[in-house]
Amino acid sequence: MQNKQSQVEATDLPEAARNYTNGEWVSANGETESVTNPVNGESLSTVQYSTNEDVNAVVDNAKEAFQSWRETPPVERSQYLFDLKRALEDREDEIARALTREHGKTLGEAKGEIRRGIENVEVAAGIPNMLREGSGTAEDVAEDVDEFSLRQPLGVFTAITPFNFPAMIPLWFLPYAVATGNTFVLKPSERVPLSSQLIFDAVDEVDFPDGVVNLVNGGAETVNTLLEHDDIAGVSFVGSSPVAKHVYQTAAETGKRVQAQGGAKNYAVVSESAELEDAVPNIIGSVYGNAGQRCLATDVVIGVGEVYDDLRTQLIDQAEQLAVGNGLESETDVGPVITPDSRDRIVELVDDAIDQGAELVLDGRDFEHPEYPDGNFLGPTLLENVTPDMDIAQEEIFGPVLCLMSTDDLDEAIDAVNSTKYGNASSLYTERGGEARQYRYEVDAGNIGVNIGVCAPMAFFHFGGRKESFFGDLHAQGEDAVNFYTEKTIVIERWFN
Ligand code: NAD
Repeated sequence: MQNKQSQVEATDLPEAARNYTNGEWVSANGETESVTNPVNGESLSTVQYSTNEDVNAVVDNAKEAFQSWRETPPVERSQYLFDLKRALEDREDEIARALTREHGKTLGEAKGEIRRGIENVEVAAGIPNMLREGSGTAEDVAEDVDEFSLRQPLGVFTAITPFNFPAMIPLWFLPYAVATGNTFVLKPSERVPLSSQLIFDAVDEVDFPDGVVNLVNGGAETVNTLLEHDDIAGVSFVGSSPVAKHVYQTAAETGKRVQAQGGAKNYAVVSESAELEDAVPNIIGSVYGNAGQRCLATDVVIGVGEVYDDLRTQLIDQAEQLAVGNGLESETDVGPVITPDSRDRIVELVDDAIDQGAELVLDGRDFEHPEYPDGNFLGPTLLENVTPDMDIAQEEIFGPVLCLMSTDDLDEAIDAVNSTKYGNASSLYTERGGEARQYRYEVDAGNIGVNIGVCAPMAFFHFGGRKESFFGDLHAQGEDAVNFYTEKTIVIERWFN
């Protein structure tokens, strides 16, 4: 059978994902793993894992670079970010194709993700203005004494990122860390290291001073070396909750500043007043887009009162029409999930839900794509009669599965939303302002959508998260990022002459 991959324009991918430091691509010395395309299992490239020595050498370079980068005026630092924006935009198509091939999401989703990443570069380029704002200035706090606060960088920061947004999430951190005068080491997910290689081609073109922006590849061991390294001042992490907790604890034990974003369980609630014509396609995109592999994906939808029957009918109707396939092909709505293990885990969660009393309305468990029999596909799956006590109502699914619940009123729905250990995002579909107010007041989640499914904050706002979805105080993006990457120093000043 002809592999359709050959019919769509492919991107030249690096033969091996390598480390980047001091303006050079360097080989790591640990084991080598294959990077596979989830559509067909083909090997796309390899990733070289870093040893402790590899990590130490990169952190040494970043440490060495810190002092003169710190002394570089913010207006000059921001010029590098303007250049980086252009260099990334020049590569947008190339990065999107690589991203689709290593991750599986559709080309449209890949391009959208890169755009959201670049928005962070744009916001961070405004650093001269953002650094002005500290805790303020006060004259004459005592006789002839003035007091003010300054923001100062801390040193070397690292960011450890997950597989599901290989281009956007590194850019939640890199631009702010370096704009504020720190130096930076990225450790991308070993499952999708190729997008970062292309992002670092852009970094390389911009020609940051040696050691300012660095990349190390690897897995858990590489992460632990970074977490325990004396010369790392702070850690940004995004990934699953157990690892987020581990990162938070280890970084705290070694005296580092840390922000650790974890997993999610996002419910959407549909009120009787909702405009279903608009709400249903929005919910479908939120559940099945990115094959459900978003930390903001909705995976439980609650219909309140009499809206349930119509909502159910329309959701089933639209979910059935989704085309599953290769993300490089324009007709595809839903790509594969990342690995065969991931698919097996999702199928097990669905099987358990059925055992626990849920009813399977759409069954995508055995989906096989005729042209990609080795792909990690699942068809759109829909369960109803799901209740909050079932595992599937509590655990993150991270696949193209929608669970339907019904409640008598909004209070009961909000209780279900708040029943999980996560607090990343939640959405309400309503035409009543009072319901929207109650929802944002009572729901314990960091990102709330009103008639918006994937409530992803713009780069100039922080990215929320509570309970086991976030460990730390200061979030990614926006002003929180500036606070995270700087220390506020208080100066109390008196001049005797
Ligand atoms: P993951 O936790 O498996 O991996 C994330 C990173 O941690 C990777 O770089 C990996 O190399 C490293 N890692 C993995 N195991 C480790 C260990 N034992 N010790 C130290 N480091 C380790 O996550 P994933 O599967 O790549 O990503 C999916 C998860 O990320 C989901 O739970 C999703 O909700 C979450 N996520 C959260 C957000 C958010 O903003 N809250 C955003 C995107 C993804």
